[in-house]
Amino acid sequence: TAKESGRNQYRYFQPNMSEQLSKQLGLERGLRNAIELKQLSIHYQPKVCLRSGKIESVEALLRWDHPQIGRISPDVFIPLAERCGQIGVLGEWVLENAISQCVEWHKAGLPELSVAVNVSPMQLLSGRFARTLASLLEKYGLEGRFLLLELTESVFIEAKQELQQCLSTVQGLGVNLAIDDFGTGYSNLAYLKKFRVAQLKIDRSFVTNLLDSAENQAIVTAIVNMSHSLGLTTIAEGIEDKPTADFLTSLGCDKGQGFHWSAPLDAAQMPRLLQLLRPAC
Ligand code: C2E
Ligand code: MG
Ligand code: MG
Ligand code: MG
Repeated sequence: TAKESGRNQYRYFQPNMSEQLSKQLGLERGLRNAIELKQLSIHYQPKVCLRSGKIESVEALLRWDHPQIGRISPDVFIPLAERCGQIGVLGEWVLENAISQCVEWHKAGLPELSVAVNVSPMQLLSGRFARTLASLLEKYGLEGRFLLLELTESVFIEAKQELQQCLSTVQGLGVNLAIDDFGTGYSNLAYLKKFRVAQLKIDRSFVTNLLDSAENQAIVTAIVNMSHSLGLTTIAEGIEDKPTADFLTSLGCDKGQGFHWSAPLDAAQMPRLLQLLRPAC
């Protein structure tokens, strides 16, 4: 089942390694060559509409298969890429592949599917993010509305002039923004209005054990109510079973994502999965 293969996928290199250790292992050097050596790939995980069961979107999640170490978690190599100045190149690779893949799916009979891409704060600060994005959308002929960028709260908190400019240019392309891992960061929510964010992604830490935790239920209920009154969509990440999905549906949460439906899968497996999960509505 999806849940089992999901578990297997997580039996890989975990993020408890020090900077020192990653140096010793030559990971930085390895990462520099990873694109060229075709060690990177993207897996996609569906975002499911809780009421209809329909998939409108998939999230792109980067994978690095190291020839000696095996699969390395993005929680390890994304921070590494940020430290060693590789995040720009890596992020652009993900964007280009996700955009071209989305166009392929549109041609293959899934014309409404959109794709979500995680973007690191440092990518946005490079100064050419918006221009690069615009030219990639142009190159592949994808409308901006089919792309959603997942950003963590920290991006918005210290948003300086350049960053605000960058995000509004991105939104001008029709691209939507989501706040990833919502609830784990900052408590001043004023930025939600300022940036016209489309989607709040409730962090997995509130969703795991949701049914056993009155505190998490209170937090999730508050997030759902708040985002609805601000006109935002809510999605819960890390849903692993049906009772949790049902409970979130009853709270009015709009969408869900997690092993309950599917682990992240490679692109070739998506059309079949989408057939399976698409209801007869
Ligand atoms: P995220 O964006 O919050 O993604 C959610 C993570 O939870 C993913 O881990 C996903 O595979 C995992 N997950 C999904 N459903 C379940 C579930 O039901 N149970 C559990 N336990 N886990 C679930 P993954 O793929 O290892 O990615 C970890 C993080 O690495 C991501 O967190 C994201 O912050 C970052 N990341 C991944 N790809 C990229 C990328 O292309 N660019 C950037 N900047 N960051 C990325
Ligand atoms: Mg994400
Ligand atoms: Mg998340
Ligand atoms: Mg996360």
